Amino acid sequence: MAMGEADLNKERLELALEAAGLDLWENDLITGNVTRKATKTFEELGFSEDEIVSGVQDIYGLFHPDDIDTVRKAVADHLTGVTPQYRCEFRLRSKSGEWVWFANYGRIMDGHGETRGKRLIGVTFNIHDRKCRETEIAQINQQLTEQNRLLQQLNASLEQLAANDSLTGLSNRRTLMELGAKEYKRTERFGHPLSLLVADIDLFKTVNDLYGHLAGDRVICAVAQVCAARKRSGVDIVARFGGEEFVIVLPETDGPSALQVAESLRREVETLLVCVGDEGQEVAVTVSIGVATLHKGSGMDFEELVNRADKALYRAKESGRNTVHCVDAHPAPARVHVLPNPGEAPGGVVAA
Ligand code: GH3
Ligand code: MG
Ligand code: MG
Repeated sequence: MAMGEADLNKERLELALEAAGLDLWENDLITGNVTRKATKTFEELGFSEDEIVSGVQDIYGLFHPDDIDTVRKAVADHLTGVTPQYRCEFRLRSKSGEWVWFANYGRIMDGHGETRGKRLIGVTFNIHDRKCRETEIAQINQQLTEQNRLLQQLNASLEQLAANDSLTGLSNRRTLMELGAKEYKRTERFGHPLSLLVADIDLFKTVNDLYGHLAGDRVICAVAQVCAARKRSGVDIVARFGGEEFVIVLPETDGPSALQVAESLRREVETLLVCVGDEGQEVAVTVSIGVATLHKGSGMDFEELVNRADKALYRAKESGRNTVHCVDAHPAPARVHVLPNPGEAPGGVVAA
């Protein structure tokens, strides 16, 4: 006898469920009974037919404690009409105790017209592989975020390293030239004065020769600190230009003011005593300083300003050291001011 249409539909449904890996279940909303159990899911979790039939394992007993509220809420939302379908993802405990991810998809059915349905029918299916991949990707993303954070930190310290001199922490020559050129442009635009000091430790080679290179380093750092202490934050640029040579850029500062700064710096270094050994040896040094000031329309660039200050420094060395010399960089022929040496002996090295 040929199969009836209803039976055929039943077989069609079984085929579709099987092919899609779906496990059909059904709850009677009036009695609260499970009218069709998700047996395949139980089988997948490792439970025997007997265990399934005897109902030893109620599905709610298998839910992961962290997921149970999500499931209850999803059911409630659908039963109260908040959601058009019941959907949720959750973990179930297998017989051997492992957590396996599943999903549910269902809907209230069997209603007539205005009457609400009496059954909640749905399917359960395994989503474990997808969930594992998602977790893996989330972990990888978290690692990437952490690595990015470290890279950013590293980049910041590399930038800091690239911009600053490692011994003194002052700006290095490259930074000086970059910032100086910017400052120069600003000065030009607003027609403001800009002065620059080049300070060089006098007879520094002798410090190295007498006390050693490490002692020399300490002296360089001490002089660097004196220079840095004069920095007007956010205004001046203080840089280590070379071995024992420093540059201070003084924006908004005219020649006479720059000379005052230079002279005051020279005096401060003169009074400095640098401890260079375990036995309390102290070294005194002096600096010679060249000053140059840029005025509007001089046609010079920043590098030329540095060269001018360097020339002034050379003259200061020539005239006996521990002095300040100035080259005024007017558009008119340059004038050279030589500050009188205040009668002291040229700078040198003294041991305590
Ligand atoms: P002047 O008064 O003409 O400037 O004489 P000077 O001895 O200071 O000049 P010179 O250029 O002959 O010597 C500079 C010395 O500075 C030579 C070099 O070995 C030393 N030097 C350069 N960089 C460093 C450094 O980082 N640490 C130490 N300890 N010495 C350095
Ligand atoms: Mg020197
Ligand atoms: Mg030098």
